[in-house]
Amino acid sequence: MNRVMSGFFWISLYLLVVLVPVFLMLIPPAPSGRSFWLELSVALGFVGLTQIAVQFVLIARFKRLTAPYGIDIILQYHRQIALVAVCLVLAHPLIIVIDNPSRLKLLNPLGGNWASRCALLSVLMLVTLVVSSLFRERLKLSYERWRLLHLLLGVAAIVFAQLHVSMAGLYTNTLWKHAIWVATSAAMVGLVVYLRVLRPAWQRNYHWRVAEVRPERGGTHALVLEPVGNHRMAFAPGQFAWLKLEGTPFTLEEHPFSFSSSAERSDRLEFGIKALGDFSGRIGDVPPGTRAFLDGPHGAFSIDRYPAVGYVFIAGGVGITPILSFLRTMADREDPRPVTLFYADTDWDSLAFREALAELEVKMDLHCVYVLKEPAEDWKGERGVLTGEVLDRHLPKEKLARFFFICGPPPMMAAVHEALQERDVPEARIHLEKFNLA
Ligand SMILES: Cc1cc2nc3c(=O)[nH]c(=O)nc-3n(C[C@H](O)[C@H](O)[C@H](O)COP(=O)(O)OP(=O)(O)OC[C@H]3O[C@@H](n4cnc5c(N)ncnc54)[C@H](O)[C@@H]3O)c2cc1C
Repeated sequence: MNRVMSGFFWISLYLLVVLVPVFLMLIPPAPSGRSFWLELSVALGFVGLTQIAVQFVLIARFKRLTAPYGIDIILQYHRQIALVAVCLVLAHPLIIVIDNPSRLKLLNPLGGNWASRCALLSVLMLVTLVVSSLFRERLKLSYERWRLLHLLLGVAAIVFAQLHVSMAGLYTNTLWKHAIWVATSAAMVGLVVYLRVLRPAWQRNYHWRVAEVRPERGGTHALVLEPVGNHRMAFAPGQFAWLKLEGTPFTLEEHPFSFSSSAERSDRLEFGIKALGDFSGRIGDVPPGTRAFLDGPHGAFSIDRYPAVGYVFIAGGVGITPILSFLRTMADREDPRPVTLFYADTDWDSLAFREALAELEVKMDLHCVYVLKEPAEDWKGERGVLTGEVLDRHLPKEKLARFFFICGPPPMMAAVHEALQERDVPEARIHLEKFNLA
C-alpha cells in the first residue's frame, strides 16, 4: 500500500471505530420513552469517549500507523482531537440537563447515583488532563511529571467513564453489548500494559552502550551508541529516536533526538545533543559503557521520502543534527546531487559540527552559507538573522526544482517558511522538523 492509500485507510478506520458505539446504540433492544435530545447526547458522549480511548492507540508509536503521516502530525492530531472529544463528552451532560432541568441533581455528587458520580469523576479527570496539557509551562510542571500525570489521568478518565456506561446500563442491556464494552476496556488496559511493561521489557534485549561522548561547539555533545549484540537500527536520514539513558528501560524519562550519523551506518549511531535542560545538560557527564535504550526510528522528515534533483537545507542551532545525517548519508552514498546549506547560529565558535561540515564540503557537491547573529568584526559572511534576502543572495537559480528541509528554533522556521512561500516555492517542497512534540 502506498503512503496515500495507507493514510486514507487509517482515516477511514478511525471514523469507523469512533462511530461503532453509535451503531451499537441503533441495534435493538433500544431503551424506550427517551427523547431525541437524550439519545443525541448519549451518542455524542459515546463518540467522545471512543475518541479518547483511541488516543491511547495514537500515542502508542505504532510505526505502521505513524509512517504515512509522521509521528509529529499524529501527536498534533492527538492534541487537537482531544479538545473535540472532551467537548463531545461535556455536551452529553449539558444536553441532558437542558432537555430536562430536573436532571441537574445528577451533577451533584451527593444528589446523584453511582453512575452519575463515575461520570463526574471522569469529566473531572478529563478537564484536569486538558488544563494541565494546555498550561503545562505556566503550571511549572516538568515534562516528565506532566507525562506521568497525563497517563494516570487518561487511564482514570477511561475507567470511570466505562463504569458510568456499565452502571447506567441502558446501552449495555444485552450480554453481547456488555461484552463489547468490557472487551474495549480490557484492550485499553492491555495497551497501557504493552506500552509500559512489555515494550520496555523487549527493549531490554536490544540495548545499546555509550561508545563515546564528544564535546562539540555551542554547548552540544555528540553521543555515540553501539549495539550490545547483533541488532542494528536501520533508519532513514533525518529520523529520530526516543533515548533512555537510565539503567532500566522501564523509566518514564525518555527524550527524542535526531540521528546525526549516516543512515548507512546502522551499527554506530550518533546523536548531537545540546544542553538545554536537566537531561540534555547531563550528557557531557555520561560515562562510556552506560546502557542506553532506543525507541525508533520515527519521523517523516527525510530526504529518502522526497527524492529531488537537489536540496536546500536550512538549519538553526542544534537543528543541524538531522541535516548532518542527510549530508553524511549523501556523502556515504556518493550522491552527486547539489546541496545548499544555510546554517544560522550566534557566532563562528557556536556552530556545532562546523569541522564535519568542512569535510563534507570537500567530499560532495555542498555549498555552506553561515549566517551569524553576533559575528566578529572581521567576519565576511552573512550577518544577522536568516531572512528572505539572505536566501535570495545564495539560492541557486533552479531553486523551485529543489526540495527544502528546515530545522531550527520556531521563529526562524516560521520566518524562513514565509520567505519561501513569498518566493513561490511550492508547499509540497517545504519540509519542517520541529524539536518540540509537547
Ligand atoms: C523530533 C525531535 C527531534 C529532536 N532532536 C534533537 C536533537 O537532535 N538534538 C537536541 O539537542 N535536541 C533535540 N530535540 C529536543 C530534545 O528532545 C529536548 O531538548 C530534550 O528532550 C530536552 O530535555 P531536557 O530534560 O534536557 O530539558 P527540559 O528542560 O526538561 O525540556 C525542555 C523542553 O523540551 C521538551 N521535552 C522535554 N522532554 C521531552 C520529551 N521526553 N519528549 C518531547 N519533548 C520533550 C519540552 O517541550 C520541554 O519543555 C528533539 C526534539 C524532537 C521532538
